[in-house]
Amino acid sequence: MRAVVCHGPEDYRLEEVPVPSVGPGEVLLRVSAVGICASDAKCFAGAPLFWGDAEREPYCQPPIIAGHEFCGTVAALGEGVQGIELGQELVSEQIVPCGQCRYCLRGQYWMCREHSIFGFRQATPGAMAEYVRLPRRARNHVLPQGLSAAAGAFVEPLGCSVHAVDRAGIRLGDVVVVAGCGPLGLGMIAAARLRGPALLVALDSRPMRLEVARAAGADLVLDVAHTDAVAAVLALTEGYGCDVYIEASGAPAAVVQGLRMVRKLGTFVEFSVMREPTTVDWTIIGDTKELDIRGSHLSPHSYPIAIEMLRRGQVPLERIVTHTLPLEEFPRGMTLVLTGEESIKVQLVP
Ligand SMILES: [Zn+2]
Ligand SMILES: [Zn+2]
Repeated sequence: MRAVVCHGPEDYRLEEVPVPSVGPGEVLLRVSAVGICASDAKCFAGAPLFWGDAEREPYCQPPIIAGHEFCGTVAALGEGVQGIELGQELVSEQIVPCGQCRYCLRGQYWMCREHSIFGFRQATPGAMAEYVRLPRRARNHVLPQGLSAAAGAFVEPLGCSVHAVDRAGIRLGDVVVVAGCGPLGLGMIAAARLRGPALLVALDSRPMRLEVARAAGADLVLDVAHTDAVAAVLALTEGYGCDVYIEASGAPAAVVQGLRMVRKLGTFVEFSVMREPTTVDWTIIGDTKELDIRGSHLSPHSYPIAIEMLRRGQVPLERIVTHTLPLEEFPRGMTLVLTGEESIKVQLVP
């Protein structure tokens, strides 16, 4: 089968590899669609998992087939698989928990120490290929009939958006700011809309994305390239600041901006995959504002909600998925994601 194999930074090759075999408890999917994620772009660019510990925590384990946001048709079932039938359309959560580490044993599977994520770790080759094997411990979800392949491959990013919004603990009447209208930020806007905020504000520097943010449910969109967003949000809130700030832009400047924009005792959720480190004055977190700073990672218990949102049409998917390319055009897809100028979500169809 054809597959996009990551051999290292900026070295992804379209190769012919064997179709994976399935053992007991495993499932083989014929991939219907697979998205290119900001984390794929970060990996492609050669960034470490996080700065300061690059040696111990490489971003991925090459050579490996990339791709973690996918859906596919069940093509083969290993012995003992239950609740899944041949021909069904399936998604699988991006992380395959080990089931044995401290986090897994405590039910915090998205923090699994092994952290086998499709397309990044040797145990879990990804889905930028004609077929992908779902290991025994994969967390699979059957898709409702009639859901498009584009929607199926968007369940993973939308699940991450749902989790970030859960972490934000939005309450009725909150003023909520989402910084960054990429695929994840747009999903957060759609999910935050369902939480009943008094005012939902979207920030980005690209007008095309801000338009889609409106379609996703933003009450107000601000172009940070041409507006003083901090001043604007303070003016909207009698000088207090927003109740909740969700950082989903990947830009270090958006962290500083958020700390200035959020009110005292407010909540700041950090979601971004940053390509560079950022520096802020931590005094503001404690001494000045007593903020709740919360991280958000992956999409625990969020897939069923994301699937239902897509089924109900609560996400302007046709405007978020801007490019659908054949697997062969992976290099163009990666360039589109890296620049982000004309694309939002790029998906590949093997
Ligand atoms: Zn992703
Ligand atoms: Zn584990």
